Amino acid sequence: MPIAIDSARGAILKDVDGNMFIDFFSFAGVLNVGHCNPYVLDYVKIQEEKLIHGLDFPTENKLALIRKILQQIPEGIRNQYKVAFCGPSGSDAVEAAIKLAKHKTGREGIIAFHGSYHGMTSGALSLTSNLKFRARLGSLVPNITFLPYSYCYRCPFGKSANSCRLECAEFLKYTLENPHSGISKPAAIIIEPIQGEGGTIIPKPGFLERISEIARENDILVIFDEIQCGFFRTGNFWAFQDDTTFPDIITMSKGLGGIGFPISAIIYNKAIESWGPADHIGTFRGNQVSIAAGNGAFDFISDYNVECHTREMGKYLLEKLDELKAIYPFIGDVRGKGLILGIEYVKGPDSKLPDPELVKKIRQSCFNKGLLFEVGGHYNNVIRFIPPLIVNKELIDSALAIFKEANEEMIK
Ligand code: PMP
Repeated sequence: MPIAIDSARGAILKDVDGNMFIDFFSFAGVLNVGHCNPYVLDYVKIQEEKLIHGLDFPTENKLALIRKILQQIPEGIRNQYKVAFCGPSGSDAVEAAIKLAKHKTGREGIIAFHGSYHGMTSGALSLTSNLKFRARLGSLVPNITFLPYSYCYRCPFGKSANSCRLECAEFLKYTLENPHSGISKPAAIIIEPIQGEGGTIIPKPGFLERISEIARENDILVIFDEIQCGFFRTGNFWAFQDDTTFPDIITMSKGLGGIGFPISAIIYNKAIESWGPADHIGTFRGNQVSIAAGNGAFDFISDYNVECHTREMGKYLLEKLDELKAIYPFIGDVRGKGLILGIEYVKGPDSKLPDPELVKKIRQSCFNKGLLFEVGGHYNNVIRFIPPLIVNKELIDSALAIFKEANEEMIK
């Protein structure tokens, strides 16, 4: 998008020419509490005067954030888990997670999913299914197997809601147990509890649970990548929270840095810790300002009951998008949980043929009118709404008015 930004507050940004835009993608799913949130900025300013680069030493600030994260784990198992800060990007957390799994099990392979996005560093990129990102790079990390995700709108097993028996999850069992599948026993399975860049794909209830169960039966570690769908995006701290399963390792980043400070972390079961101190190191782990911003974001969300607000706004937005789906035949599917939503465009309601070209046109038209959002999907045909969680109904209505106008133009 041809835009040079001047400033931003909440979910509104201004470019250098004075044009205003609605930010409906939280700048890559980061600004859950909104741009330059003043409540969080206060935490940042206080910390800046105290300590900025704390290397990997303990501080009260760090301990506070660790406690807040651990508080989100069910009480019965809470003391089994620990938090380790990784480098500044989400990819750093993914790298740490797969390294830990390999180190613990002594095995090499990792199972990931079609449509996955886990980052751009070599290890994380190997787990990212889109070939476009890996073109011309030769071999990266070996022994990665991609399995079909639980994508109900385009069920890879041709099932409908009624005939579904979670074949997508059972396929993991088949793959692991079939001597002809061509893979040796992997160290771990990594999965996004909601696929983000893959097109906001919300798996069928029970999918994550069954995947985890099969992995456990086969002594394979389970990693949930919550980098995009976590940190209250769905109205719960973690996106997997509805399933009654808890993974061995969770990766986090993005929203954890409050208003855009770089940070990432893994939360993992202490039982799998096989490396000693200084076996996995890095200079910029746990920047104290990022950590303070994370503390601020946690407190802001709790003080203003943002979880409940997210669920309400998400429901409202989803209902409105469903109304648009009933009007426009090229909207094939609308889905969402809290404030992570996807609108999938097709050439016709029956064909389900993806229409990425139409998406491009709608995106351009919305941009011209002042609405910014991301596009993703297995076929690049999904418009993704991931606004800051602090959006109110008025702003949602303004965004939808622009969005509807752009859709309307496409039938003329
Ligand atoms: N995992 C997921 C699910 C993501 O959405 C992303 C970023 N889009 C990453 C990992 C990588 O994060 P980063 O870009 O900070 O390396």
